[in-house]
Amino acid sequence: MRYKNPNYRKVRGSHILLVSCGYCKTGIAEYQKVGRGNLLRMYENRIIKGSIDWSRKPRVLHCPNCGKQLATRITLRRKNKKAYRMIRSAFNTRRVD
Ligand SMILES: [Zn+2]
Repeated sequence: MRYKNPNYRKVRGSHILLVSCGYCKTGIAEYQKVGRGNLLRMYENRIIKGSIDWSRKPRVLHCPNCGKQLATRITLRRKNKKAYRMIRSAFNTRRVD
């Protein structure tokens, strides 16, 4: 995971998830998850690092290894936040902290 996110901000009461490709198991990102429940979207400023170059702001996230689509970039209107909406069943998560 060579791409660190310079905009990452630590949030209290969070934990860290390792997000990996559901097809080939390649690690995609370390992500700071707040609250319980499944990962539906990844907020951009909570991505810690990953194997994708976030600075290029990809509109679609593809696995860098097998090329499968894992997520699409969205803007949340209410908060004007950028996030990636994860495609269900295309990824796995594992708590690592
Ligand atoms: Zn893959």
